Amino acid sequence: MDAPVEVVLRPYRLPFRTPLRTAHGPWTEREGILLRIVAADGRVGYGEIAPIEAFGGRSLAECTAALSRLGPTPKGAELMACADTLPGLRTALSEAGVDPVAPPARLRDHVAVAALLPAGRAALGVLRERLDLGFRVAKWKVGVDPIADELALLDDLLALLPGGARLRLDANGAWDRRQAERWLDAAAERPIEYVEQPIEPRSRGAEDLLLGLAADYPVTLALDESIAEENDLDAWLGRGWPGVFVVKPTLLVNPPRAMARLAKAGASVVFSSALETAIGFRQGLHWAFAWPGEARAVGFGVGSLFAGSAGAVPPLVPFWRWADVERMNPEEAWNALR
Ligand code: MG
Repeated sequence: MDAPVEVVLRPYRLPFRTPLRTAHGPWTEREGILLRIVAADGRVGYGEIAPIEAFGGRSLAECTAALSRLGPTPKGAELMACADTLPGLRTALSEAGVDPVAPPARLRDHVAVAALLPAGRAALGVLRERLDLGFRVAKWKVGVDPIADELALLDDLLALLPGGARLRLDANGAWDRRQAERWLDAAAERPIEYVEQPIEPRSRGAEDLLLGLAADYPVTLALDESIAEENDLDAWLGRGWPGVFVVKPTLLVNPPRAMARLAKAGASVVFSSALETAIGFRQGLHWAFAWPGEARAVGFGVGSLFAGSAGAVPPLVPFWRWADVERMNPEEAWNALR
């Protein structure tokens, strides 16, 4: 770990084909840093540092500053210390063999993918297209338009679903208690797999409110923004959260530690993309293939959100087979964003 390691950083900006409308406001482009590290023995690891500020954690500027302070040839031990505070670095170190913890071993041959639907009426057309491609789970962004409009659209979306297909709803914390209750009443006994982040995690009393809603309604709830940081994840495991944990491996500082805790608790987990390039995407998928618990469709149906940049973003497919994940070459994404 005392040997110098070569580190090359490649900041990127990828515009979305259409700005994403979320409860946090419009989002026009994804920004992040790719990194390529070469260990003293020549082993190469790629990583992606792409925090989302609305999710908390460190900002991209802070991550950039921390990496720049290391210089182009830091010692392995210096990188490992830095990896304790930055998302995305540990996986690159693991692939290059600098971190002695090996990348995760896969436990399954394929995973199903959930399609991501845009907010509002545009969801109808996209859902039709995704069902034609073979997707059987889709996630719709809600909490963006007036509640009566969205509830009317919910009926139209559910009417399109073939038997066995499921819809997920993601409110990104947009609702108060009354709005959440209205939605959970509407969702009961419908083909809705779960309702994600109904309440803003930093609002007053959010924890008790989320636990109360989970206990009072038959609909499964999922936490996403509430578990943006790993100590939040531990806290919610400690509270015995009965619903789903949405886990974005790219945003985790120490994915192996977080996965071990979730697995030990027997948690219900949905793996999700953080709208990253093929480098972080591939590493996130590795965790879904290595998950020992129930296999729920992964939130990796995002490829077509980006304009252009062939090679840098993964294809949009309703299932990933392990053989196809293995064929993904991080060097291609690295070169595509040169
Ligand atoms: Mg979410």
